[in-house]
Amino acid sequence: MSDQLEKYVDIIFDKIYRKFKKLGYVEIEASGRHVHLTRAVIDKLFGKDYKLTKIKALSQPGQFVCKERVTLKGPKGQLQNVVVLGPERDKPQIEVSKTDAKILGINAPVKASGKTQGTPGLEISANGKMLHLNEGVLVAERHIHMSMEDADNLFFKDGDRVDVEIFTDRPMMFKNVKLRVSEHFDTYMHIDYDEANACNLQGRMLGLIVKNPKN
Ligand SMILES: [Zn+2]
Repeated sequence: MSDQLEKYVDIIFDKIYRKFKKLGYVEIEASGRHVHLTRAVIDKLFGKDYKLTKIKALSQPGQFVCKERVTLKGPKGQLQNVVVLGPERDKPQIEVSKTDAKILGINAPVKASGKTQGTPGLEISANGKMLHLNEGVLVAERHIHMSMEDADNLFFKDGDRVDVEIFTDRPMMFKNVKLRVSEHFDTYMHIDYDEANACNLQGRMLGLIVKNPKN
């Protein structure tokens, strides 16, 4: 597809998405492995007061992809060229898939973003500098970011659990998906690459939110 055509398809998709969100559909985004760094870690790896270079905005307002890349090293193996996401955070967080964790040789637990306490650590390097992080490695729990408007419209509240059906040629139901409702969010579902490959997620796709009877 030419760039121009792709742009039109995106515009049309956005229009359709606005309508379908009201019917309980959600756009699914696959998150690749990435790291969130603290000021202290950035200082050590890239230099004092180094400013991360934004190259692309993410779907969630204020979140962005940086030009900087890091290498992650565990007892069994390493992953190179790992994306850094901005802005800086209070605690370092390394989000990998279960497949990545196997390559590293780390038993990374499935956790909600931010719940880094008690998670394993690893070695992180960039620019020839290496640092050992004591904790922060996790497999992000599948979740939906939802705007207040969409949540009100669908009668959902922050913390609700839902199921999401995906209509691909490997159709699947993602169970027990956590809803995160905030005025800072736009409505998108996040899964990792293992989950995306399991249902053969290709390009932009919508899933249907099915109310979980436990709510
Ligand atoms: Zn997310």
